[in-house]
Amino acid sequence: MKPTECLYLYKAYKYVLGKLDEKEMEFYTNHLLKCVSCAQLVINVRKIPRDKLENRVNAIAQVLDTEKKFEQERRARGCLSVEQIIDYIHNRSDTVDTEYVRRHILDCEDCKTEVQIIKKIEFEEE
Ligand SMILES: [Zn+2]
Ligand SMILES: [Zn+2]
Repeated sequence: MKPTECLYLYKAYKYVLGKLDEKEMEFYTNHLLKCVSCAQLVINVRKIPRDKLENRVNAIAQVLDTEKKFEQERRARGCLSVEQIIDYIHNRSDTVDTEYVRRHILDCEDCKTEVQIIKKIEFEEE
């Protein structure tokens, strides 16, 4: 199973809220029929109350906006995407190279800060 096809947690949030574009919704609906781990992930995400999920997705979208402003520098430095960070926080080593993340945040203040912000978003309410 290729990581690129599997759902990042952030995508799973958006999938459950119906906020992916039509093509992606269709793609993942099919994917869920074939992939046990993504199907299980979606079942777990569905247990999160909808309003909490909306809040999380909105808060994360703000982080994404800030990220976009520095997109080029970030890419040049091999910075982490929000999706990778969320999966790292939840120890999802099937979709993210956790060792790379660990090493990267030792050198990169930006990503380190982002990990802290996203940790807050993800765990504060639980
Ligand atoms: Zn999958
Ligand atoms: Zn970085």
